[in-house]
Amino acid sequence: MRAAQKKKIQKQLLERRRELVKALKQDQAEVRRGDDDGPLDLADTATELWNQEFNYSLSEHDRAELAGIDEGLARLEDGSYGECEECGEKISEARLKALPWAPLCIACQKEKEELARRNA
Ligand SMILES: [Zn+2]
Repeated sequence: MRAAQKKKIQKQLLERRRELVKALKQDQAEVRRGDDDGPLDLADTATELWNQEFNYSLSEHDRAELAGIDEGLARLEDGSYGECEECGEKISEARLKALPWAPLCIACQKEKEELARRNA
């Protein structure tokens, strides 16, 4: 991959990452404001925090995206960016354009989704 291309993708990923992190911080600020139920014991607090985090912060989809972006950035660094994690084939440019942090090629992604559906 050319250095210029790598830089461009890196920038794309970092920008998207910033957006997601910003959304996460806003949500956490709202959680803090809404928390006036009085003192809780430690176990309750842990559960409560987890619930709040689950309910109010990033959606699961956003979390997965954030993790995917981090992985994408790491793959850019180690040079494996653009290769399918599953089969090692090159991920198509069109797919990377639509989803720059895509870890799987379309075939493997479909297979994975199919598997998830069957296990659901
Ligand atoms: Zn694949």
